[in-house]
Amino acid sequence: MQSKWSARDAERMVKDYKAKGIGRELALRVYTTRLLGQDPALVLHGGGNTSVKTKARDLLGEEVDVLCVKGSGWDMGNIEPPGLPAVRLAALRKLQALDRLSDEDMVNFQRGQLLDANAPNPSVETLLHAFLPGKFIDHTHSTSVLAISDQADGEARLKKLFGAALAVVPYIMPGFALAKRAAEIARAHPKAHGLVLHKHGIFTFGDSAQQAYERMIAAVSRAEAALGRGRKTVFAPAKLPKKLAPIAEIAPILRGLTAIGPRRRPLIFDVRSNPKILAYVNGREVARYSQAGVVTPDHTIRTKNSPLVLAAPEAGKLAAFAEQAKNAVAGFVDSYHRYFERNNKKAEGKKKELDPMPRVLLVPGHGLIGMGKTAKDAAIAARQGRAGDRRRQRHRRGDRRGLRPRWR
Ligand code: ZN
Repeated sequence: MQSKWSARDAERMVKDYKAKGIGRELALRVYTTRLLGQDPALVLHGGGNTSVKTKARDLLGEEVDVLCVKGSGWDMGNIEPPGLPAVRLAALRKLQALDRLSDEDMVNFQRGQLLDANAPNPSVETLLHAFLPGKFIDHTHSTSVLAISDQADGEARLKKLFGAALAVVPYIMPGFALAKRAAEIARAHPKAHGLVLHKHGIFTFGDSAQQAYERMIAAVSRAEAALGRGRKTVFAPAKLPKKLAPIAEIAPILRGLTAIGPRRRPLIFDVRSNPKILAYVNGREVARYSQAGVVTPDHTIRTKNSPLVLAAPEAGKLAAFAEQAKNAVAGFVDSYHRYFERNNKKAEGKKKELDPMPRVLLVPGHGLIGMGKTAKDAAIAARQGRAGDRRRQRHRRGDRRGLRPRWR
């Protein structure tokens, strides 16, 4: 992974924003946030966030120390200064004295410390940024780092890979407890310039926007090298029917089977195919390697944890295909209910189960289908399905192969 930092672009942004009354530090914060957000290997729709500790003036003209941190509803790739609302830093830091804090109280408190009451909610990871020492902090759910972290011996692998540069934080559910623990670990490792949060993501700190960003790129590059980026993966192909039923014949069957809600509303399909997708879905072992699970919750919310693998549709045998697909969908729905039950027992508070239908279908011979309530959701599922598929394969094999998830 290459640094995309350009001193010229950075200075141009500083100049442009200066004319609009935005300070240098926030302008540079916007610049590198966009660099991170525009790389899908680092940040997927809504995942990841950044911050800068700087000064701002309140309505009375008094200068206050603030944390400008990504606000919810903004995409890092095209963020603007209002997408990094200023929160009073001293008040946030005082929260460290508490033993516990519920998510609801945390969000409410954070809102109360905004300099502009109309600003968006600060990121749910705001306290991590506030408690950590760096001036500029970058956070991503890098797929390469997670491909290492998500292994059975992931923690040991991370420690070996990053040594003293990044301290490793054991898995804790995001929230107040994680922010506190991460800050303690950062204090115990003053030489580290970042943290890897096991099974979650990576933080890098810097005195400047460039330093924090380039430390992120360096760490992710190290993870990519460990995974052997660029090595070719060969999938042994399965035997396919001589003649396939066309997608136009099978799509209506699948839309009917996967319709949601009491009114049986069909989802929108986004069908994708290219030689790499075909090699993957036509693999003899697709039913095994496609089911290892995704690397981040950013994927889960779009694609669910695994795609549904269907049989290759043979021309003239649509009834048999429909029967197999019906059973496959029923199996998926059943396992989704069980997955929800199992995890709901462990979760605090009552959770609401989502519709149990898959969001990515793998159809040997044809490719993959991303599904969603809107065309946009379907496209995102299709795109992430691809990235997720490659990752799943790499993760599952635990080997050093795999393709860089780049699909735009
Ligand atoms: Zn995160």
